Amino acid sequence: MSFTGSCHCGAISYTVDEDAPTKAMACNCSICRRKAPLHHFTTPDKFALHGSRDDVATYKFNHHVIGHHFCKTCGIAPFAEGTGPDGKAMVEINLRCADGVDLDALEITHYDGASH
Ligand SMILES: [Zn+2]
Repeated sequence: MSFTGSCHCGAISYTVDEDAPTKAMACNCSICRRKAPLHHFTTPDKFALHGSRDDVATYKFNHHVIGHHFCKTCGIAPFAEGTGPDGKAMVEINLRCADGVDLDALEITHYDGASH
């Protein structure tokens, strides 16, 4: 089974070719403490973005290894793209933007991004 997600206005939507996650990661780094995403990580081959890249704005900071994407219209950040610790391309899914995921049922792992 795959699962889908989107920004608030619907300009950005995607399908992830895997089962809807039951776990997520919360991070306390400078951007996550403000944006509060619930992270799930996948690989580019499982990620299909629908619509146009023109609707996606990107913010980069620090080492510039992650493109923190957000919708140009509604400002919601349903995914990010970057390079994982293993040097491979990864896609971050913000599970708060995923359809059909019970956020209260997710098993949350806390990552101390503020110290990295
Ligand atoms: Zn939007």
